[in-house]
Amino acid sequence: MNMTSLEGKTAVVTGGSRGIGRAITEAFLRAGADVVVNYNKTPVDELKALAAELGRQLVDVQADVSQTADCERLIEAAMSTFKKVDVLVNNAGITRDTLLMRMDEAAWDAVIATNLKSVFSTCRAAVKPMIRARAGSIINISSVSGIMGNAGQCNYAASKAGVIGFSKSLAREVAARGVRVNVVAPGFITSDMTDGLDEKIREKVLHEIPLGRFGQPADIANAVLFLASDLSGFVTGHTMVVDGGMAM
Ligand code: NAP
Repeated sequence: MNMTSLEGKTAVVTGGSRGIGRAITEAFLRAGADVVVNYNKTPVDELKALAAELGRQLVDVQADVSQTADCERLIEAAMSTFKKVDVLVNNAGITRDTLLMRMDEAAWDAVIATNLKSVFSTCRAAVKPMIRARAGSIINISSVSGIMGNAGQCNYAASKAGVIGFSKSLAREVAARGVRVNVVAPGFITSDMTDGLDEKIREKVLHEIPLGRFGQPADIANAVLFLASDLSGFVTGHTMVVDGGMAM
């Protein structure tokens, strides 16, 4: 048996329309999973075409993950179509960067609701069927900012550190029921989120990456695939840093 295969599994991915989430969805489809992919504003037509080409089922669900009812509707969509959730990836995330002195309450609330409260909402809905099945793998996407801190990202770093504490606690709650909960903490990954950054900042960051390059969305998807598959069957409560060595 190929242990990296997700054949016969159902995965839910939030924020799958662009960047890292899209790469994760693609990796899951190629590994044989059927996927319930969430987007907020960007339709996922190309992923639908890929799924059809590969003979996989892909269900797309428009939902704003900062809203608890939307998160519950997302998990319900998976349950009504596939009757199970084997893998849940909380990837959707936003930045509203500015120094704390200038940060308004709206920038704090939006980042916490989208990056952290969403993880609470989807996990709370998904652990019930996972516990019933005595199986499941949850992967939450954090960031090296949540480990190292980053000037201009008090809201974002707090949300991403929160994801790590949340995941370790949930891992302890559900381990005896066969459900694993892990975190992937990306470093600097090329995507719409980082494309807008000033060239000077990009150069400075590049200097701090021992492997000498920015990460690609596929670098994160590979780590997520490992944590989703049976290859990582003895791994739970872990934060896997995928950053070219930046945070060590
Ligand atoms: P991105 O290119 O900006 O894509 C963000 C994705 O999240 C999009 O698919 C977007 O969907 C979705 N999203 C945003 N708000 C949403 C909401 N309220 N409800 C549902 N979906 C929503 O970002 P990325 O670089 O791929 O980042 C993905 C994750 O990795 C995030 O959690 C981010 O914090 C984390 N991360 C990224 C980096 C990096 O260097 N890029 C580093 C560390 C951690 P729509 O387009 O449909 O709105």
